[in-house]
Amino acid sequence: MFDFNLNENQRMIAEMVRSFGAKEITPFRKEWDDNQFFPIQVFKKLGELGLMGVLVPTEYGGSGFGYFEYVTAILELSKLDPSVGLSMAAHNSLCTGHILMFGNEEQKKKYLPKLATCEWLGAWGLTEPNTGSDAGNMRTVAKKEGEYYILNGAKNFITHGVSGDVAVVIARTGEIGDSHGMTAFLIEKGTPGFKGGRKEDKLGMRASETAELIFEDCKVHESQILGKVGEGFIQSMKILDGGRISIAALSLGIAEGALEASIQYSKERQQFNKPISSFQGISFKLADMATQLEAAKLLTFKAADLKNKGQKVTLAGAQAKLYASEVCVAISNEAVQIFGGYGFTKDYPVEKFYRDSKLCTIGEGTSEIQKLVISREILK
Ligand SMILES: Cc1cc2nc3c(=O)[nH]c(=O)nc-3n(C[C@H](O)[C@H](O)[C@H](O)COP(=O)(O)OP(=O)(O)OC[C@H]3O[C@@H](n4cnc5c(N)ncnc54)[C@H](O)[C@@H]3O)c2cc1C
Repeated sequence: MFDFNLNENQRMIAEMVRSFGAKEITPFRKEWDDNQFFPIQVFKKLGELGLMGVLVPTEYGGSGFGYFEYVTAILELSKLDPSVGLSMAAHNSLCTGHILMFGNEEQKKKYLPKLATCEWLGAWGLTEPNTGSDAGNMRTVAKKEGEYYILNGAKNFITHGVSGDVAVVIARTGEIGDSHGMTAFLIEKGTPGFKGGRKEDKLGMRASETAELIFEDCKVHESQILGKVGEGFIQSMKILDGGRISIAALSLGIAEGALEASIQYSKERQQFNKPISSFQGISFKLADMATQLEAAKLLTFKAADLKNKGQKVTLAGAQAKLYASEVCVAISNEAVQIFGGYGFTKDYPVEKFYRDSKLCTIGEGTSEIQKLVISREILK
């Protein structure tokens, strides 16, 4: 069983994120949120701190940490600004993680050092306008022509769709309905026929860039394939198994941020000549929030522990993601309630947690899809 105490690396990461965030994130987060500004400079600095290649071995220029350190880094960043946590997690788990898990030695040597330092920002494209939960039904095609593949189609809702320097893109190379009919390609910014498209105007996570990827006769050499032809969808499902732990961590950060703000405010805010925390109606809310958060942490660190041990995390990752994301929405909702009218304003942080939290039950597989995954696993 894993150790419930933070290890030395986790403590060091938490302190580093807090002191970095106090200068580089907290003072600007409202402005970024208001203007939907993607603060790419923050990610370059996180790269210098080793947080853009958390799981990448040191031989490829990364930090060489495990999932405990990774969860802590995302949690602490998300407490400050969930958008930063989301972008950091997408870069690490999806694009970088896919190359780390399925790239050949040449691809790892070429891309991982650039991604781990955030000299290059990564994107990962699976979702399409008409195929989200049903990603295996994708329509973006890659047609073989000699040593090249010609890609046509579009991906949407892609984190870093415009600013990403390299994208891992899953496209159809076989028949619709064949789970072995899709292939993962590494596509660099500037490749003819490849461009970022419209940026989404979002409810929350507004400082994390979400945009389309467009392919118009985009010519990609076969050396840019990750793994083998036909493995792309299966690879993606494995990437999402690990990625879901990062969305659970993101949910923990939001929930912890909302809970801490609520505890503090409930002790300061007086009504009927008493702090509102003295009313059982409020203190019981806090008790439920704290207990839900603790249970979500246990599920998340259990999944992280299994991942560190190299075990399958399909079930544990989906359970952690489902539970942590649902309680993160519930906790943020109660936080707004505890703040009353002030919770509905932008003067306090809880309205942003409330808006940002909703992404957690949607991204990297909705709650309904997590239940499909969990039920499939337990009915096997
Ligand atoms: C901010 C943000 C960032 C994202 N980043 C990325 C990224 O970097 N890369 C990427 O590839 N994608 C990304 N996504 C896409 C995300 O993974 C999808 O939005 C998500 O998988 C859901 O797909 P959808 O939006 O098409 O919803 P749909 O699949 O259309 O689902 C609509 C509703 O139907 C439900 N539903 C669907 N199928 C079933 C079923 N079989 N049983 C029960 N209910 C079902 C869903 O749960 C949902 O409630 C991002 C999305 C957002 C919002």
